[in-house]
Amino acid sequence: MFKEICSNHKAYKNLYNGTWIESSNNLIEIKSPIDGTILGRVQAMEKEDVNKAIKAAKESQIAWKNTPLNQRASILHKASELLKEKAEELSILLQFEIGKNKSSSLSEIKRTSDFIKFTADEGKHIKGETLGGENFPGFSKNKLSFVTRVPLGVVVCISPFNYPINLAASKIAPALVTGNSVVFKPATKGAISGLYLAQIFNKAGVPAGVLNTITGKSSEIGDFLVTHKDINFINFTGSTKTGEHIAKIAGMVPMLMELGGKDPAIVLKDADLKKAAEHIVKGAFNYSGQRCTAIKRVLVIDSIADKLIEKILPLAEKLSVGSPLEDAFITPLIDEKSSDFVESLIEDAVKKGATLLTKNKQSKNLITPVILDRVTSDMQIAWEEPFGPVLPIIRVKDIEEAIKISNASKYGLQASVFTKDINTAFYLSDKLDVGTVQINNEPERGPDHFPFTGVKASGMGTQGIKYSIDAMTRRKTIVFNLDEKTP
Ligand code: NAP
Repeated sequence: MFKEICSNHKAYKNLYNGTWIESSNNLIEIKSPIDGTILGRVQAMEKEDVNKAIKAAKESQIAWKNTPLNQRASILHKASELLKEKAEELSILLQFEIGKNKSSSLSEIKRTSDFIKFTADEGKHIKGETLGGENFPGFSKNKLSFVTRVPLGVVVCISPFNYPINLAASKIAPALVTGNSVVFKPATKGAISGLYLAQIFNKAGVPAGVLNTITGKSSEIGDFLVTHKDINFINFTGSTKTGEHIAKIAGMVPMLMELGGKDPAIVLKDADLKKAAEHIVKGAFNYSGQRCTAIKRVLVIDSIADKLIEKILPLAEKLSVGSPLEDAFITPLIDEKSSDFVESLIEDAVKKGATLLTKNKQSKNLITPVILDRVTSDMQIAWEEPFGPVLPIIRVKDIEEAIKISNASKYGLQASVFTKDINTAFYLSDKLDVGTVQINNEPERGPDHFPFTGVKASGMGTQGIKYSIDAMTRRKTIVFNLDEKTP
């Protein structure tokens, strides 16, 4: 599988117009977060290379949109199968490249294979509608609107480092099934995995030019890519900082944005504390907290806070810490800049009076799970997204204070509410300014046919299979104006 995309000196190539090419002499080293080993090099593409990729995508889209939908769906079915077959090999790459443990890597790949298959099936149900003029005053049924759904054109897919397979395929598959062509730019950290995924789509039969990959320094080609005159849609997942920048410069191009989060777990007096603690620990520390939907703060009613902490602590202390290759739960963060940032948030909180309930051991980019109690609103950790294994606990006096603090965040991705009272759950859900409220569960993106929406600084638009398909097509209307008289 690696042969075509990688030449002997481990320089990975880019998919351009159906072939794997080296675009320049400049290469970017991809290092493993486990120990800094160089895993390979990817092409540092330049603006002219990006231009060519977009041109190939634009030209090939004309034939692709005219390829029957069921044939496009069959290609995706094939890609889904191939991905499943290659799960073991690809999971090893994920472990080395982004430090995700084996079980989570395999589960990301399996979920993505299912996602592609479901998307192919859902895509076959795209339908239009007809509308009669007579419904509106002053018009008759001789005016008839025939509405179909058509692709947008060239879709730019930009994915983050933390789910290089899932968050790439969740953009590429809906774009392809609806007849768009794709220019795919994986995050540099995770780029080899992204190229591997592109190879799967290529092997499954996506025609030349319909899927092209771009690797390179986003500081040099990023703005050029998202402001190119021949792109028709941007589907982006990444940090709020990058997302806001793209939204500002891209102009009148429709886009979907999945950005950062600061998901709270709100624990009420009547909650099943054992169950809440289990969900909180899993939700906060899975993939070392490097997830947009990780629990990034606990808002607990003060009178039950000690009891909740009693249940959380032993679970957190039991989490294995080490190498993803040994399937440790807590693994090295993506780089040392990230772990230093997490440490700076912990230091700031402790300096301002937070209680450190766990050990705080850092060895380069590997950090043991940290729980901070009595976090207050003057501490950075109360508001920042750490993207690491640290859980701040904020004690609140009542439900209203929990709502207030939850909504004071600039983010609004998901929130968890732990309570046995359905009425309270509904009351809170109504008041929380987020895309999704989970009752008695940790925040999570799936199942992938559910809508996934970020509000405020957490995003724009709704993902989820049918919603992504909807976003990447537009309505085209033909109006028939029939003669009043029958012949
Ligand atoms: P990031 O640094 O913002 O990068 C995301 C992607 O944007 C990368 O492919 C990056 O390329 C690219 N990029 C950077 N500048 C660009 C520009 N000017 N034009 C075009 N592309 C540009 O984010 P990350 O560190 O990879 O991911 C972590 C963040 O993603 C967290 O904030 C997390 O919450 C968020 N996230 C959100 C969701 C969600 O569903 N809401 C899911 C997962 C992650 P390079 O790598 O080459 O710089």
